[in-house]
Amino acid sequence: MRIFEQLESEVRGYVRSFPVMFDTAKGSLLYDEQGNEYIDFFAGAGTLNYGHNNPIISKALLKYIERDGIMHGLDKATVAKRTFLQKFYDTILSPRNLEYKVQFTGPTGTNAVETALKLARMIKRRSNVIAFTNGYHGLTMGSLAVTGNTFYRDESYGIRNNSAFMPFDGYFGPDVDTIEYFRRFLEDASSGVDLPAAVILETVQAEGGINVASNEWLQQLEQLCREFDILLIIDDIQVGNGRTGTFFSFERAGITPDMVTLSKSIGGGLPLALLLMRPELDQWQPGEHTGTFRGNNLAFVAAAESLAYWDNDDLAEAVKYKGEIMETELNSIAEKYPELNAKVRGVGMIWGLELPRNGFSSEVSKKAFENGLVIELAGAEDQVVKFLPSLTIDEKMLRQGLAIIDKSIGDLLA
Ligand code: PMP
Repeated sequence: MRIFEQLESEVRGYVRSFPVMFDTAKGSLLYDEQGNEYIDFFAGAGTLNYGHNNPIISKALLKYIERDGIMHGLDKATVAKRTFLQKFYDTILSPRNLEYKVQFTGPTGTNAVETALKLARMIKRRSNVIAFTNGYHGLTMGSLAVTGNTFYRDESYGIRNNSAFMPFDGYFGPDVDTIEYFRRFLEDASSGVDLPAAVILETVQAEGGINVASNEWLQQLEQLCREFDILLIIDDIQVGNGRTGTFFSFERAGITPDMVTLSKSIGGGLPLALLLMRPELDQWQPGEHTGTFRGNNLAFVAAAESLAYWDNDDLAEAVKYKGEIMETELNSIAEKYPELNAKVRGVGMIWGLELPRNGFSSEVSKKAFENGLVIELAGAEDQVVKFLPSLTIDEKMLRQGLAIIDKSIGDLLA
């Protein structure tokens, strides 16, 4: 680790949480340099929905490299990009009757968010954008302005002047209607909230602590946006790509966002970020919003290949089945240790175990790592242990990982 301490910025995070030298990975297993094995319940923060070095994706990539396929193409037309767009249309958009145009925005999630925010402001000629408590949309200046956690922010950045936060579903507990609260802020001039160009949200807040918006809440929010001429942006960067059991997370609520941001697993493990927008919103001039790495053709190859998982319902059904195992096992862990007051939340294959006792979640993740499980924390105080295995994990390994959490809590309380 010495070279990391010597050379890598103090900002480094995971190198501290998981103090070993990782070397190889396959499916849901990681190996360090000494050959020790770890089950991965983190999946690259949602980037590896199809597992590490997925054999189908790796094979397609090797074949593409061997035939000297274009690697870097800016936004030139390439066969790899055409193949991805066609596959995305045929497999994802067309069967769902979704009419969106696709903008390649850069390699990473925040690039897609920045693009959405810029476009919404440009179209509506309004600078305010509403985001939600506990939302996470990235850490560059535009996306940071709509990210709720003030840990990431310094007053000197000067970014607070064109965004406001509304309470997410359930923020004040079950009895407060947060949509009504939002409506009142829009209607009442004394609220100080300017009519926004857009609202941006995750249907399941991932970094924010696995907070699941109800279908009714999402439907009411869509209705409110229509009433007030506000664009609805769903950030599906972490919980899209099948995480919740459908390709897009918003499908369960039957809503149709004006824009959708996608990244992480859309690239099949490689860097890729997209903005989907209703066709009439595509008001850019050619070249008006560019970036050098919008044309990572290896990512197009991996992305196109990974979409084969959506040719039939097998993966969606597997997510439902394994998600129920996660829910059942986590609830039984919560019941087994009543002194923890643990709360279980989630949908599909994203689950959180909230452990209100101060600092206990970090102890659990540390102990779990000693016991062979890589797992991350979420929530403004890192109070939630976050379960995000790859969607392709086999049932036995999933159960093993959950058993490690049970054992780790048991070890700590013993
Ligand atoms: N939106 C959501 C919902 C995310 O979870 C993340 C990353 N955790 C981002 C945006 C930002 O993506 P990136 O870190 O790739 O810039």
